[in-house]
Amino acid sequence: MEAFIGEGIITFFDRFKTDLDCLEYLAEIKKEKVYKCCKCGHDKFTVRKKNFATDCNRCHHIESPTAGTMFHKVKFGLRKAFSIIFEMSATTKSMSARQMAKRYDVSYSTAWLFMHKVRNSMKSSELNPMSGTVIVDEFVFGSKENLKQGRSTDSKKKKIVAAVELSEAGGIKRVYFQTIDDYSSKSLETIFSKHISIGANVQTDKWSGYKPLQKKYKITQTKSDKGKTFFEMNTIVHQVKAWLRSTFSWMHKEHIQHYLNEFSYRINRSITKQNVFDNLINKMLQAKTLTYKDIIISN
Ligand SMILES: [Zn+2]
Repeated sequence: MEAFIGEGIITFFDRFKTDLDCLEYLAEIKKEKVYKCCKCGHDKFTVRKKNFATDCNRCHHIESPTAGTMFHKVKFGLRKAFSIIFEMSATTKSMSARQMAKRYDVSYSTAWLFMHKVRNSMKSSELNPMSGTVIVDEFVFGSKENLKQGRSTDSKKKKIVAAVELSEAGGIKRVYFQTIDDYSSKSLETIFSKHISIGANVQTDKWSGYKPLQKKYKITQTKSDKGKTFFEMNTIVHQVKAWLRSTFSWMHKEHIQHYLNEFSYRINRSITKQNVFDNLINKMLQAKTLTYKDIIISN
């Protein structure tokens, strides 16, 4: 079976006409990459004709391709689930849960929960830290946004630190965001340890919080000149704020990190956009299943 390639919605709907088409897709991925019997852990099996169920060669436990995955018992059907994933990955701007609920005729809470599951799989693996030139800067985001840049102490606003990796041509290659409680070195270090390699040439403004990190990272501090040096950074910050504000006006502050992950995923994957859907389905199949509670407390 071929992986789904492309960004066209017609191609997508032609490929996935029924829930069974989607189940077959999951079964194929599971067969190639992730199958382990959930009863005994054995990895050899036979595929049954009916619903592509796997029959364990050792203990004969029969399970659905969705067993133990985020797709298990998706009440609204796999085709809708696939469609929501496609919309969230292949389009440049994702919809809100409210819009998605209307479009696919599911309840708001169903759309909200499932979209959070997808978002969770968009989280970075943290295995490919940024290298070359990386710009790091902080910004704030609040519901009543006044677009003030820099370090605000307004406790109602969310403090966020962003890292932008530049391409050789000087454009934006990748971007990551991390919510922080304050601007201390300890808080700022999180984005470094998760996403920036030790050899990267990091540029920040003159904020003293970055000073202690120079022991470990190559950091050049320059005076922020409101635009020139941090042009790419400012562009990204502007984009992410506009997106957050237009799509998620009712968003809970606690969940902002998930939305930031979604934004990064789309930017960072734009070079390989053709297979972004297949990538996400693979990630979701291998992720741990999440409950409503997991999503509420995770960050
Ligand atoms: Zn078994």
